[in-house]
Amino acid sequence: MKLQASKHVFRTLAWRMVAMGILMGAIFPVAALQMGVSAELALSPTFIGTTLMAGLIVGGLNFALASRIVRPRLRRLSSRMRKVRSAMDQATYSGDWSECDPAVCRLEEQAEDELGEVANSYNALLQALHSAHRVEERIQSFNNTLSSQLDLADLSDQALILLMEHSNADGGAIILEKQGDWTIPASKGLIEPQAILRSPALQAAHEQATVRRYDLPAEVKVDAVLSHFAPSDVLLLPIKHHGLLLGWVVLAAASPFSDNTTRLLPLMIQGLGMALNNALLHDDLQRVAALDPLTGLYNRRFGMKRLEEELARIQRNQTPMSLIIVDLDHFKRLNDTYGHLAGDKVLVRAAGIIRDMLRKGDVVMRYGGEEFIAILPGSDIKDGQEVAERIRFALAQSQVEIAGHTLSVTASLGVACTANDRVTSAEPLMKLADSRLYAAKSGGRDRVIAEGAGEALAS
Ligand code: GH3
Ligand code: MG
Ligand code: MG
Repeated sequence: MKLQASKHVFRTLAWRMVAMGILMGAIFPVAALQMGVSAELALSPTFIGTTLMAGLIVGGLNFALASRIVRPRLRRLSSRMRKVRSAMDQATYSGDWSECDPAVCRLEEQAEDELGEVANSYNALLQALHSAHRVEERIQSFNNTLSSQLDLADLSDQALILLMEHSNADGGAIILEKQGDWTIPASKGLIEPQAILRSPALQAAHEQATVRRYDLPAEVKVDAVLSHFAPSDVLLLPIKHHGLLLGWVVLAAASPFSDNTTRLLPLMIQGLGMALNNALLHDDLQRVAALDPLTGLYNRRFGMKRLEEELARIQRNQTPMSLIIVDLDHFKRLNDTYGHLAGDKVLVRAAGIIRDMLRKGDVVMRYGGEEFIAILPGSDIKDGQEVAERIRFALAQSQVEIAGHTLSVTASLGVACTANDRVTSAEPLMKLADSRLYAAKSGGRDRVIAEGAGEALAS
């Protein structure tokens, strides 16, 4: 509101009040005549002059009184608004909105009249602007935090923590579709979150991916410090990217989520869709870069990285680790006789057999053409030898049918162990296993050797 405008209002008010006073002064002699005052007196110049003067004075006093009461309040209102406007102009560029905080800028207008109402409306407007700005700020900071994350698990974890903080949720999970399966890359404060994946309500929700209230399966509970409880309010929020459903955010709370929260969360999750999509692509690329395309096992580069990691881990845990090198026998001959494609099929079958013989936590890679390496953390040489023997046997038993031919293949295996062979790094461990493999080859193939060849370390 401009001060100039309020001056015009007061000038008009002054003119009207004085004019009204003069008019009343002019009418008063006529009223006096009606009331029985003699015409000589009522129409005398002195009487008329006096009533006009009285009207003028009353009009003037009226204006003075109104202006004294209203003007300072209007001035206060307009000056506060101008200050806030210039503070907002500055904050837009500086990012510091503390000067525009409603606590600092609100008008303390107590009166319950029209001006009080104007002040209240101004305060409400200020509050609405401030809330809009805070929402924008939260969304921006949420997106900034997540945009630098490419690791799927870390990203999901951080997103969930932030969403739970903003919504005051007691538990939550992020559900994502990965290679056709629904997985939970992050969950917090929930018991049995996996049960959500089996829930028919979630299956039904996929049909129409909108924000909704959701009944958690009975076995899913919020893990409170002293007890577990069924939440009173659960939100299911779709995570989308370019209209495609990537997954869901589940948030559970002991008390119902506020309307503001349910309105804010979908806005925050919009940015999450893009960040998760990037992380999923990154995850796919990582996987492609880590796997051998023919067999689906880890490739040599990634497998050797895993070997170093496992070696570091067993050293920390003071446990043994066995390593088995598997080399198919006379594979060149098989290729030469039945062709490269037949050889490929045998390789894929052999990779599957080796993988099936291993436990969860073991690592297997295709080290080269027809050579595989299995890493068995926690296994001593005896365990390693047993597993190698099982692999040898299973390979020798297996048969592959190709173009009317039944192909079978045997393998030679060398085993070494960190504890029994007293080695701590990858190179001597591999050297030992390799020289035992060589011994198995020269010993007639289709066999496992798990000792000797200590001289390999000296060379
Ligand atoms: P040995 O019993 O001494 O191990 O004999 P070998 O013939 O298995 O050993 P060699 O290392 O001489 O031959 C390995 C063969 O594996 C050579 C190559 O043709 C074959 N090979 C390597 N990679 C692939 C592949 O990806 N597909 C197929 N089909 N063959 C492969
Ligand atoms: Mg070989
Ligand atoms: Mg071979």
